[in-house]
Amino acid sequence: MKAVRITHTGAPEVMKLLEVENPTPGSGEVLVQVRAAGINYIDVYYREGQYQADLPFTLGIEGAGIIEKLGRGVKDFRVGEAVAWCMYLGAYAEYAVIPERHLVHIPDGMGFEAAAGALLQGMTAHYLTRSTYPLKAGETALVHAAAGGVGLLLTQMASQLGARVIATVSTEAKAKLAKEAGARDVILYGEQDFEVEVKRLTGNRGVDVVYDSVGRATFDKSLNCLRPRGMMALVGSSSGPVPVIEPAQLSLLGSLYLTRPSLAHYTQTREELDWRSGEVYAAIQKGTLKLRIDQSYPLSEVVHAHEALEARKTTGKGLLIP
Ligand code: NDP
Repeated sequence: MKAVRITHTGAPEVMKLLEVENPTPGSGEVLVQVRAAGINYIDVYYREGQYQADLPFTLGIEGAGIIEKLGRGVKDFRVGEAVAWCMYLGAYAEYAVIPERHLVHIPDGMGFEAAAGALLQGMTAHYLTRSTYPLKAGETALVHAAAGGVGLLLTQMASQLGARVIATVSTEAKAKLAKEAGARDVILYGEQDFEVEVKRLTGNRGVDVVYDSVGRATFDKSLNCLRPRGMMALVGSSSGPVPVIEPAQLSLLGSLYLTRPSLAHYTQTREELDWRSGEVYAAIQKGTLKLRIDQSYPLSEVVHAHEALEARKTTGKGLLIP
């Protein structure tokens, strides 16, 4: 089979499309023929070595496909079923071996592209708005990189909960997408000082929560945008990791809360995984949550796919189709 492997970490060129042996499912695992693999910014962290795995490895932590083979002891899945998974490496390939505990069934009528495209970023938006900082109607959230994969889903979910979303993006085209997703206000953070704008837009009150996936470039100013006792959810670091912060700083800025959440800790049980994935998939099927798959590539174009993501040229979701 073909798989996108890395033998050392680094720039996009370290990813090589290789002919490798088909993997065999062990106990509690299944072999999936991959029909669509999600591209996530997290894949960049793995490729660069910011997130670590034993080398060599196949990239990609999100996919959908058909079960071809069961390992011993698999209880709730059958050969031929359509499944999706995330937070487990190996998706950038024609076949992947995935532990049963990461799998969800794809609902009838949903295609592999939507199933792979919505799972990781949809469940992230779900836990951020429902569990990390459960948003209430009338509250205000600052969402950075709002036209990205996570950003568009997060903006929709937050505004559907009745919250006011102040979005940041880098271009006018991305501003249009953020508005369509429900953002009340959009700031071009490359041109305007977003801290000044947020203070103006909230009458100096500040926002209740910041969902900051950009990291280094936005973190300090994001803290300054919060109301007293507001919450900073540092979701990622697409601009680079955030330097060390003194706890006393949180007090000086208004007894703020700071969390660095991960989807892994919000899908720890079968119940929680089924709840979040079920709500995301149901919303997509009903049409209340719109998934934009704006980039699709064959495995052979994976280098280009990562280059585009890191150059901020993408919007919504990107997929690799083996
Ligand atoms: P995106 O589609 O959001 O792509 C990244 C976006 O970040 C870019 O399009 C760009 O938007 C913005 N950005 C700002 N500065 C930079 C920079 N210097 N380099 C590159 N991009 C920059 O990716 P994802 O939706 O896959 O992920 C978004 C973030 O959420 C990532 O940080 C990811 O790690 C994180 N994440 C965290 C999870 C968790 O559980 N903690 C789970 C899933 C994702 P613009 O052009 O508008 O600035």
